[in-house]
Amino acid sequence: MALKRLSIKTQAKQELIDITERVQRAVRELGVSAGACVIFVPHTTAAITINEHADPSVKEDILMMLDKLVPAGLRYQHAEGNAHAHIRASLLGHSVTVPIEDGKLALGTWQGIFFCECDGPRQREVWITLI
Ligand code: ZN
Repeated sequence: MALKRLSIKTQAKQELIDITERVQRAVRELGVSAGACVIFVPHTTAAITINEHADPSVKEDILMMLDKLVPAGLRYQHAEGNAHAHIRASLLGHSVTVPIEDGKLALGTWQGIFFCECDGPRQREVWITLI
């Protein structure tokens, strides 16, 4: 089992960062030609998702709807004040799995891998495991 860790410095309170190329580079460096790649986020207020990366307005729409679905400032019990970020991260999920074919991520034509910051800016990590 091969593991690679990526560091990500997020810049905003909430943002989606396209990490497709970085994950592809890590897969290449690990030298695996076929299998699957698990991309895991070891945080409770950040997440990972796959969606369209051809049109940047898609990620803006996702962020807008997360704001509406799970607003900040409700009467949450979590004393740290970032319950909305924990809930958004859980809705998006903490890992995705992508097949690897001929040493490349086998993604659909319009798909990209997005790191989802829900309570930034922070120093973050993404762990990539090849299986
Ligand atoms: Zn918290």
